[in-house]
Amino acid sequence: MPPSSPPPSYNLVSERPVHLPTKVSVTAFADVCRATVVDLMNGASRGWGKRELASWLAGPYRTLTSFAKREQRESERMIQVLSRVAAVRPIRKANRPVEISSARIDSLLAGARRASWVTLESLRDEDLGVGFVFDALNAGIVQRCVDNDGNAGWVPVDLPKLGLAERVASLIAVDYLVRPEDYAQKLASCCECGLVAFDEELLAVRRCPGHVLRSGIPAAMDGRVQPVTRVA
Ligand SMILES: [Zn+2]
Repeated sequence: MPPSSPPPSYNLVSERPVHLPTKVSVTAFADVCRATVVDLMNGASRGWGKRELASWLAGPYRTLTSFAKREQRESERMIQVLSRVAAVRPIRKANRPVEISSARIDSLLAGARRASWVTLESLRDEDLGVGFVFDALNAGIVQRCVDNDGNAGWVPVDLPKLGLAERVASLIAVDYLVRPEDYAQKLASCCECGLVAFDEELLAVRRCPGHVLRSGIPAAMDGRVQPVTRVA
């Protein structure tokens, strides 16, 4: 879709922007959205399960979406389901409630991670970025905001029936709309373990510190991310 013909539901002019709290800048807000995306993606590849996903939804995701104007927090239901599942103690098989299997949570996280990486990579391309932004605006997963210095930005919206990948996409959209150039200049992943980061050095060497080859031997091959200080 060309940028000159926004969809009919494009409603930015009439919508009043949300005011961020006094000490929260548009950039700082986008920083947290980015970090929250990266946390979920790297968590998913490090074996996150029900508890971690519920914590992500109830923690940073809930906080970030709390600024948007909306009637109901629709992710609440998902958190409740996950919390209930985490609290289930299977005493008697016959009375055991229907449980979301760990395999299904793994699959949900892996799917969201895959979809999010496809989105992130596509945003290196300006034209695909325009399409992504129009889709996000049209879906209503972001709303305009303004900070105390008058800078314009965006906040994510917790809408009904969003899948996990769409919730992640709303956070990506907030970040991308504030500094799209970072996606071409900083977005990177480790070719060994898949660690995702916005990091020019990682983009250059394509290996996280734990996977940088030293003396021809990988410093760590256990799939876990190692801090720089532990590289031999
Ligand atoms: Zn790595």
